[in-house]
Amino acid sequence: MPLEEYKRKRRFDETPEPAGKVETKSTHRFVVQKHDATRLHYDFRLEMEGVLKSWAVPKGPSLDPADKRLAMQVEDHPVSYFDFEGNIPEGNYGAGTVMVWDLGTWQPLSPVPVEGKYVPGTEAEAVAMLAKGDLKFRLHGKKLNGDFAIVKMKGRRPGSKGNEWLLIKKHDDFEVEGYDIDQYDESVLTKRSLSEIAGDSGSKEWTSRPATGRGKLKAAWLANAVAKLDKKRAEEKKAEKDSKKLAPKKKRT
Ligand code: MN
Repeated sequence: MPLEEYKRKRRFDETPEPAGKVETKSTHRFVVQKHDATRLHYDFRLEMEGVLKSWAVPKGPSLDPADKRLAMQVEDHPVSYFDFEGNIPEGNYGAGTVMVWDLGTWQPLSPVPVEGKYVPGTEAEAVAMLAKGDLKFRLHGKKLNGDFAIVKMKGRRPGSKGNEWLLIKKHDDFEVEGYDIDQYDESVLTKRSLSEIAGDSGSKEWTSRPATGRGKLKAAWLANAVAKLDKKRAEEKKAEKDSKKLAPKKKRT
């Protein structure tokens, strides 16, 4: 069952995190959350197949192709987790402060580059690449942009759970040599630093069931980006339908 592990680990009467459900359709959004739990790490999440495919990245993503960032795959999260920012109370799973560090949309890339460059691929290719353990994608975020790959590590280290992947920036116009993630301690939603979110009594800890809908996109620029993406996908679907209409119907025998 999708999200079973996510739900099993949490008590929703105590944590402000969303309970969530599997969505029937996926837009291609991504989020990176900075999470000051037992150890500070970044959670990298791609919206796919109605959930957020999730990895915990101890050092955070990098725009330097020379950095291969260890990324531990964790349980799928509900799509409504996408804009969760606040404090998970002591004694709960993942207790600590969560910042929405980056948000945006992503595109699957075709597994085979054309003349050394990656080109947009299909949803089916993305699902297959993820299953194979080598997913290539392009990010359109506020902090992260350009082409990336997330690759499952084959050799198991002693004591590893077999959930280890590497998050790698590909060479393109968006690469930054010597990228230093610590320079960017600012929420893309609220512009707050991690310590500001931690010290903010108005953040989510004290409202375990927020009255406002969680599905709403807080950042207007993001809502626009997603609306554009939805429109493009709708147009593509319509074009596909129309071409089927024009094609001569098969005779039934
Ligand atoms: Mn985390």
